[in-house]
Order: sequence, then C-alpha cells, then structure tokens
Amino acid sequence: MRAVLLNTGTELLAGDVQDTHLAFIAREIFGFGLRIEERRTVGDGAVIGKTLGELFSRAEIVFVTGGLGPTSDDITRDVTAELLGLELQENAELLASLKGRLKLRGITWLPSIARQAQVPAGAQILPNENGSASGLYLKANINPGIDSAHVFLLPGPPRELQPMFRESVMPILRLIVKAPDPVERRFYKIAVIGESVIEEKVGQKLLAISGVELGYCARPGEVDLRIIGPSGAVEAADKIVRADLGDVIFTDGDKTLEEVLVKLLAAKKQTLATAESCTGGLLANRITNVAGASAVLLAGYVCYANEAKVDILGVDARSIERHGAVSEEVAREMGRGARKRARSTYALATTGIAGPDGGSEEKPVGTVYVALAEENETDVRKLFFPSDRETFKQLVAQVAFEMLRRKLSAPA
Ligand code: ATP
Ligand code: MG
Repeated sequence: MRAVLLNTGTELLAGDVQDTHLAFIAREIFGFGLRIEERRTVGDGAVIGKTLGELFSRAEIVFVTGGLGPTSDDITRDVTAELLGLELQENAELLASLKGRLKLRGITWLPSIARQAQVPAGAQILPNENGSASGLYLKANINPGIDSAHVFLLPGPPRELQPMFRESVMPILRLIVKAPDPVERRFYKIAVIGESVIEEKVGQKLLAISGVELGYCARPGEVDLRIIGPSGAVEAADKIVRADLGDVIFTDGDKTLEEVLVKLLAAKKQTLATAESCTGGLLANRITNVAGASAVLLAGYVCYANEAKVDILGVDARSIERHGAVSEEVAREMGRGARKRARSTYALATTGIAGPDGGSEEKPVGTVYVALAEENETDVRKLFFPSDRETFKQLVAQVAFEMLRRKLSAPA
C-alpha cells in the first residue's frame, strides 16, 4: 500500500521548527512493509485541503500532522471534513474530557477550545494522553460519494503524536495493511572511508542480488550503508558486506563511533587521554557525550599554543622549532606526553592547520597529523582535509577515533 505524509504548519516552512514526524512515522510503519512514498509540507490554510485532495489519487494511506489545536490557524479538522463532505459534530464525551482536563490544570475555559471536540461524522477518535487535541482516523471512502484514502489526523507536537501513534494508529494500521510484504532493513556505519570507495567495493555485487535496494548516506567522515529488501536477499547482501567491509564497519546498529569506542575500551578495562590542538577539545567532547565515559577517559588536554604543548604535554621545544607545531614529530610527542601525564593506556593527539590562514606551500591549509600513542609504539598518520573549520575538526576526530577503534578491534 502506498502511504504519504502531509506536514502542516507555517512554522515548518518558515524554518522555525524542523520536522521530526517523517523519521518517526517511517520507522514505525516499516515493519508493516509500508513506506512513506512522498512527503509534502504546507502552511496552515486552505492549501491543506487542496493538497489532501491531490494525495488521495496517489496513496491509500495519508498521515496528516499538525493543526488540530484550538487556535484559528488550526484548521486541519475543518478542511478535511469539508473535503470529504462530512458534517462536524460536537462529541459530548470529548467535550467533557476536555473540560475536565483544563479544570484539573486550572486553565480557564474558552469557547474556542470546544473546536477540539468537533468530530467529522463517522471518524474515530484517537485519544491524546499528552495534550488536548485528539487525533482522528477517517477510514477510506468514509463518505461513499467521495473517493478517499485512509486518513489519520495527528497533533503537531512530537510528544503528543508519538505515543498516540504507537497506541492508537499502529493497531488500526495492523488491520488495514492485510498482507505486509516482508521486507527487512540492515544498516551499517563506516568511518573515514568515502562512499564512492564503499560503492566500488560492494555496490555491483549487492545490486546483482535481485530485490535489493541500496542506499548511501554520507556525513563528514562517515557513511551509512543501507540495504532494504526481502529477507533472503538481505541475508545474501549481508554476507557480502561482512566479507568485503567487515573490519571497517563500526556498527550495524544505531551507535556513534564514540559510543563504540567507549564500549570497547570499557570492555578491555583500558583508558584514554586526548591531546588536542586543531580539534580544540572535540575528541574529549564527543567521548564525554557517551554515558560511561568516566570509566575510560582520564584527561583531555587542549594545547593550542606551542608553550602549552611544551609545558603541559612535555613536547620538546626543539621539535617544534625544527619540524613546526604541525608535524609528525610533534603529534607523536603530544600523544606520548598526554599518555604519560594521564597514565592512560592510549592517547590520541591532533595537530593541524584548520585555516583559512596559516598554510604554507609545504603544509597547506587542511594538513593534519593524528597520533595514537600506546605503551611501546606511537602511530602517526598525515592527512589532508581542506574544508571549513568545523568540518575539518569532525573529519580529524573521525580519523583519530577510527585509528583507536581499529586498534581495539584487531585480533590480539
Ligand atoms: P497544538 O494543540 O499544540 O496547537 P496542533 O496539533 O495544532 O497542536 P501545531 O499547532 O501544528 O499542532 O503545532 C504545534 C507545535 O508542534 C509546533 O509549534 C511545533 O513545535 C510542533 N510541531 C508541529 N509540526 C511538527 C513537525 N512536523 N515536526 C516536529 N514538531 C512539530
Ligand atoms: Mg496549533
């Protein structure tokens, strides 16, 4: 069955609010073999009715979000009733529960609130446990004279929509979607390697499997590989992915790279220190976003000035003089120094030229050295990431984390 989503709300088009309903609903209905085939966003107003009418010819299920509240811009209920030629009737039970709810909260009753007790004839009420605006379900062709899809009218606030969806919408969908196509989804996250390299490695082989749908989603220093299809095909695809990309996949779940790192370190009872110049604390910041970080992160040193590298990390001033602060030698000494000072199992160090100034012919903007120090050796990588400062920092952090992750996941 084809499902579409219609987000309403001028605030969405103004850019004041970012839609979260698509991501939520798409994930919820995936198990039914249902996919959102199209999403439209419109402002508050008559355009809602017009768009809904258009969508009826293209979909069997329409989810509409927003515009069920008491204010004059909340007209989803009215335009839907009008489009489908249904009379709005005041629902006495709903009215009483609205009044009760307001009284409980000490909110003064206003006549406009009664609009939320108006129900198009024949519609089913979807209770709202977390707000005043009930949702509504209008079955397909609810008015026999007008062709229409199954329509779900849902409240805008995510904390109202989400529980309502799970508790009331899902059971209805289970009845509507009679024979769900059994599709499965697998998800792999890979750091540091670009999407075209990944495609080069597995793309053709995967697409040769009939029924497999492939998706790549790239972020700075990270690619998600998504495989969707009938379970047999997904199983076959999974074998290929694991054989060809196995050691570069850092999770087949929803984890971040730093979550994986913290978990690996904690499992080995090992610890980490960071010595950061060009990443300015991003490594430590990302690690400390993970619950349980205190068991593994001993210290994060942000040493921007040469003097700080010397005083705090024990970098040899002559190394800086001879090779420059952005050099393999200084990255190595930063890593070693941090490890020694924090008495950690490992240390990660970064030193680079984020730009836009400070580059030279020998070391252009974007040049960066990342070191991973451990007891008896220090591995240093030189990379080149000419980009804006924030992307540069993210890319460097990804490389640093991935160096350590590979070290931790390598067979002993
Ligand atoms: P209310 O009773 O609160 O007025 P409503 O059903 O009328 O609810 P809206 O007025 O459209 O919904 O939106 C209320 C709030 O819900 C918005 O200010 C916004 O914060 C949030 N919201 C609306 N639509 C979305 C969306 N697509 N994604 C995320 N949040 C949303
Ligand atoms: Mg509203």
